[in-house]
Amino acid sequence: MAEKYLVVIDIQNDFVTDALGTAEAQAVRENAVRKVADFTGEVLFTKDTHGADYLQTQEGRKLPVEHCIRGTAGWELIAELETFRKREGCHVFEKNTFGSLELAQYLREKYEAGEVESVELIGLCTDICVVSNALLLKAYMPELGIAVDASCCAGVTPEKHEAALDTMESCQIDVLNR
Ligand SMILES: [Zn+2]
Repeated sequence: MAEKYLVVIDIQNDFVTDALGTAEAQAVRENAVRKVADFTGEVLFTKDTHGADYLQTQEGRKLPVEHCIRGTAGWELIAELETFRKREGCHVFEKNTFGSLELAQYLREKYEAGEVESVELIGLCTDICVVSNALLLKAYMPELGIAVDASCCAGVTPEKHEAALDTMESCQIDVLNR
């Protein structure tokens, strides 16, 4: 039977309260937690995951702020979501860059088996990892309905958040609750 999927992108401490936290991310925290709790379907999580060599990577050279180093508190999902994830045994896709090929392949296999009704994405940051994964999923599954709930996403800045929502709308991602 086809199921609805909710993909929660990188709602980790470093993107909410710690190294790269923003007021905007903190402002959508409650929405995101409620969305996950109320969702009827399967919830998947991604975690931005870097190693001690982060500053030597291309991302680190362009954004020299260490974040989401595996095993640190900042790398963990925010507490409410980690509790949910553990309780429900949800899949977590660790990724060392913006988009997750592993996530896309996982969903495409299920999609080809007729097991995916729709995919919705929420999380951080709208203009980096949310848009990257939304467009990646669109490329893998052009006939699948893919949506992003804007009320559970935050960008690096409010302007970049809005610009990324525009880009996703242009690319036929359904933007909800804008
Ligand atoms: Zn990163």
